[in-house]
Amino acid sequence: MQKKVIVIGGGFAGLSAAAYLTSKKYKVTLLEASPKLGGRAYSFLDKETNSIIDNGQHILMGCYYYTLEFLSLIGAKENFSIQKRLEVNFVKEGFRVFPLKGFPFIYPINLMVGLLKYDAIGLADRLSLLKVFFMLPFLSHYRFSNINIKEWLEKENQSQNVQDAFWGILAVGALNTSMQKASAKIFIDILKQIFLKGNKAATIVLPKYGLSESYCKNAEEYIGKNGGEIILSEPVEKIVISEDKVTEIHSSKKVFLDFDYVVSAIPAFALNRIIDDENRINIPDFKYSSILNIHLWLKENKIPEVFFGLINSPLHWVFNKGTHLNIVISDANELVNKSDEDKIKVVKDEMKKFFLLDSELITGYKIIKEKRATFIPSNDILDKRPSQRTQIKNLVLAGDWVDTGLPSTIESAVKSGKVAADLIISRS
Ligand SMILES: Cc1cc2nc3c(=O)[nH]c(=O)nc-3n(C[C@H](O)[C@H](O)[C@H](O)COP(=O)(O)OP(=O)(O)OC[C@H]3O[C@@H](n4cnc5c(N)ncnc54)[C@H](O)[C@@H]3O)c2cc1C
Repeated sequence: MQKKVIVIGGGFAGLSAAAYLTSKKYKVTLLEASPKLGGRAYSFLDKETNSIIDNGQHILMGCYYYTLEFLSLIGAKENFSIQKRLEVNFVKEGFRVFPLKGFPFIYPINLMVGLLKYDAIGLADRLSLLKVFFMLPFLSHYRFSNINIKEWLEKENQSQNVQDAFWGILAVGALNTSMQKASAKIFIDILKQIFLKGNKAATIVLPKYGLSESYCKNAEEYIGKNGGEIILSEPVEKIVISEDKVTEIHSSKKVFLDFDYVVSAIPAFALNRIIDDENRINIPDFKYSSILNIHLWLKENKIPEVFFGLINSPLHWVFNKGTHLNIVISDANELVNKSDEDKIKVVKDEMKKFFLLDSELITGYKIIKEKRATFIPSNDILDKRPSQRTQIKNLVLAGDWVDTGLPSTIESAVKSGKVAADLIISRS
């Protein structure tokens, strides 16, 4: 008989679980609290400017294997552009641009040459950077579970210059927190994923359209076509557990009694609120990092490239969207609580310094704050991430925060959804 699964949450994790389950003919009902899918990764129409904008620019990478497979499954891979080879332009004050790119030689020589030619840092720094890359395959992450990234880099004699112009940008971009807070262990794992897995792994993958058009629409169609049902604006208010099973799911509108399995694909803090037996799951007390996205409309947009990483600036990335610029400020816990005037002043000052952009050219802006954008991957929290299998027999956990071995990213969310689906399939 067709097994019934309730998936709670319609972000990347819930959509991935639902898509894989419906592909194997499970009868899925997905309950989403908000009126839209996508969770922390969505786009919307900004009525003032009549443009589609993302809640935050999302960067995927060639090493997002689970995500790329999921996008293929739902027919959305075409909505993403994948670089042929790594190419990122970094910029210093005065609009001085320093490309970091993979060359068309055989891997890994192409990446090594790319690093050697990255002249945002001096030659001695580039050589010391390369030394770390040569050691990378031999580093066992267990040795680094007690130190943070900064401590690791100091041990490896990485100068302040190379930390500012390379490691810091990579760490804050990938982990959305400072090098002092993030675990060296998870960072080394990511470096291996990005730089030791072939040419494609290090490439940047970007949505071609707004995020919701790029994947939510396809996921919704795929799940619907395979017999799944998506119910929006219907938050789950209670998960009732009796003995070792979930027996009831209370949404804002009804009580669900008829199901075989439940996938929780909501953030840790949201699950804590609705589960009546949280001690059997041990949800850790995550600390979160904010991300600020500031969209700028200009009279005249002369900034040429698609995107830039900024060296030594409170602004981290600038994406040129044609109609406007999308400025990303990661690890923004401090700035997020300042007034909008203060935030815009920082943006105007930095855009002037880095891109020589006259603030008179700015015709409008929109600030989007995501206070709990990602959890902080500190050493004390990584070992506490719960496994997806729980003591409650018919409940499986998903979400970027469960123990996927990956930081709080789309890849972690999608992987967790796939693993949740596989666990259910293997049990039935
Ligand atoms: C601004 C920003 C930029 C980011 N940039 C990147 C990036 O460049 N690269 C990258 O890989 N990652 C990035 N991330 C992280 C990435 O967005 C997340 O890791 C990923 O989207 C998490 O997906 P999820 O499904 O686990 O959780 P969520 O996206 O949080 O989805 C959970 C869903 O559950 C719903 N929900 C909550 N409670 C209930 C309830 N009681 N009942 C029903 N539904 C409920 C929520 O409404 C939500 O839709 C960024 C995040 C932000 C905010």
